[in-house]
Amino acid sequence: MITVLRLGHRVSRDKRTTTHVALAARAFGADKMLVSEKDEALEKRIKGLTGRFGGDFKVETGCNWRKVLKTWPGKIIHLTMYGEHVHDALPRIPRTEDILVVVGSEKVPSEVYELAHFNVAVGSQPHSEVAALAVFLDRFFKGEALKKDFEGELKVVPSQSGKKVVNKLPTKDECLRMLVDAGCDEPTIEHCIVVNKLAVKLAKLSGAEVALVDASSMLHDIGRSKGHDIRHGIEGARILKELGLPKEVVRIVEKHVGAGLTTGAVRRLGLPERDYIPRTLEEKLVCHADSLISGNKKVKLEEELKTYEKQGLKEYVKNLKKLHKELSEACGLDLDEVSLD
Ligand code: SAM
Repeated sequence: MITVLRLGHRVSRDKRTTTHVALAARAFGADKMLVSEKDEALEKRIKGLTGRFGGDFKVETGCNWRKVLKTWPGKIIHLTMYGEHVHDALPRIPRTEDILVVVGSEKVPSEVYELAHFNVAVGSQPHSEVAALAVFLDRFFKGEALKKDFEGELKVVPSQSGKKVVNKLPTKDECLRMLVDAGCDEPTIEHCIVVNKLAVKLAKLSGAEVALVDASSMLHDIGRSKGHDIRHGIEGARILKELGLPKEVVRIVEKHVGAGLTTGAVRRLGLPERDYIPRTLEEKLVCHADSLISGNKKVKLEEELKTYEKQGLKEYVKNLKKLHKELSEACGLDLDEVSLD
């Protein structure tokens, strides 16, 4: 357990710096931060962030720092540019005891140097408490703390370009609960489970985002709780949007009907004018996995084509063939050969 003690916080002047000390402490592996001055707004800010991004990092303000130092049961490490070098001190710092890491703001009372078991410098140049804390914790944890999954509502997806943040995806059990709560009948739920099985298999073969395909395929027919006509994709998207599902899931569900509804079909059917063509790999996979499952059985492309050729749905037949070819290439085998086992 690692606790950070922040000394000399000036409520208005240090608002940003102390917030950053807390953020760095949390991100680099500490469990708690104590602040010597009372600041309820700071506590609220960090609580809000932890609520969204996860973890159970705590902040307590208005602590009697002298008492904390005098009664601390484990080791106290004071970060100061005047201390011994971090690489000399680290091998002697025990990892089995509760650690208190102390950082200051302006001048730190000499008592702190005396009560600390280690006065540690991160380089002997003056810089900042945020930098000193981050480097110390990163070295203490040998970089491992940065790999922690905070399991928050919001999750940042590492990306080479641009920002990608997703809301937490529901588990399979949570999806099942949503289908039941929305009022889906048993055959619909059974169909969702089988489509999910195929879609996840195809996602793994093609290198698609498996977690996204997993949740979206489970939920693709949630709109059938309101009726089984062509609008069920739109209804499903509406339900999932209301439930706060990530927009990627909402879009997959909205676009899964047919093999993608063209503008002409959308007008003919009187649907709200939007783009219903599956464009991402995940959108295409869920859409096509659904086409290849009739009820709870996998069907060959040919069978599906025949059904729609008979109804004269030429555009659908063309799009279905195109999707089948494209996804077979992405998966590295003809999708007709993929079994559900
Ligand atoms: N003269 C101060 C000192 O003792 O390091 C610098 C004050 S600095 C604005 C605020 C805090 O940053 C310090 O109390 C210390 O915790 C941390 N700090 C700054 N430079 C540091 C360094 N080179 N090594 C370790 N901690 C440092």
